[in-house]
Amino acid sequence: MVPKYSFVVPVYNEEKSLSEAYRRISSVMEQMDGPVELIWVNDGSRDRSLQLLRHLQQQDPRVCYVSLARNFGHQIAVTAGLNFVRGEAVVILDADLQDPPELIPKLVEKWQQGYQVVYAQRTQRHQESWFKRFTAYFFYRLLKQLADVDIPTDTGDFCLLDRQVVEILNRMPERNRYIRGLRSWIGFQQTAVKFKREPRFAGDVKYTFGKSLALAVNGLVSFSKVPLRLSTYVGLLSAIVAMFMVLLVLYWRIFVPHSPLTGFTIILVAIFFLGAVQLVSIGILGEYIGRIYEEVKGRPLYTLAEVSGFGDWGLNSKDQPSAEGHLRGSTEIANELS
Ligand code: UDP
Ligand code: MG
Repeated sequence: MVPKYSFVVPVYNEEKSLSEAYRRISSVMEQMDGPVELIWVNDGSRDRSLQLLRHLQQQDPRVCYVSLARNFGHQIAVTAGLNFVRGEAVVILDADLQDPPELIPKLVEKWQQGYQVVYAQRTQRHQESWFKRFTAYFFYRLLKQLADVDIPTDTGDFCLLDRQVVEILNRMPERNRYIRGLRSWIGFQQTAVKFKREPRFAGDVKYTFGKSLALAVNGLVSFSKVPLRLSTYVGLLSAIVAMFMVLLVLYWRIFVPHSPLTGFTIILVAIFFLGAVQLVSIGILGEYIGRIYEEVKGRPLYTLAEVSGFGDWGLNSKDQPSAEGHLRGSTEIANELS
């Protein structure tokens, strides 16, 4: 059986949501116009998620799972899932049911109209904290201003991708993956389907403030060189300020001989100002250099502990992904199956 659709669901400590997620996703699977494979990616969960996935897999032949050897983070988990898909259209959605599976038929409708990328765009965020909504709102607009590609605002990873797009994504070797950015970068016909983001079904948010911040920095640094240029601009600005200060001091020396401002104050201010500018600039440089270092090392994107449910071409867990992050090209797999 060659599936027509592949659903990819990253899972990190989601034992409380898994069975409900499976129930809702599988009822959507029944409405589809072709066979569907459901690929769970266990991102090093420390709760019973993996046991539950094993159980689901034994009960339902459409279910497959990939288990990473530790927690690699959401973006890498999705990447790993994409490396295993066999369907012609691929849907990425969260395990906590914040991305309603019932929207999938709408995404598919657009795909059938000829769009290669159909992303779900939030019109509302329910019951997420005031802080998260505010920072997300601000961040997506900042990113839109700064990024080299047009990354649509208020989109997450919930989307449908044509196999053509998935194969391009799978060939992208970069480590610092910001999937919603890469997805825009690829191009083709893209469109949005609007939806209301629902509250989490159960459990806690797995994206802590630190992880969200890291994702945001990643998005900015991977898709914009503006922060690098920032130090040039601030440098130029402070040079102008410095020249102005020289004139000011001269003026004071000549016309206001006893001004208290000509002394230490102005020197201190200048030292602190320049010190700050330099440290911030070095920090920004560091962000980019750190990423160059990560890329140059060329490690695989993830390591695999367990793979199950992929039928004949089932890999055993001793096969590890190569530095490019894939075991085999997905085209190869599809060819083998057909
Ligand atoms: N997730 C993951 N690895 C992580 C963090 C999260 O695979 O390190 C999964 C998680 O199980 C969920 C999805 O990514 O299916 C989104 O996570 P979460 O709901 O915590 O984030 P938010 O909805 O707030 O963006
Ligand atoms: Mg969530």
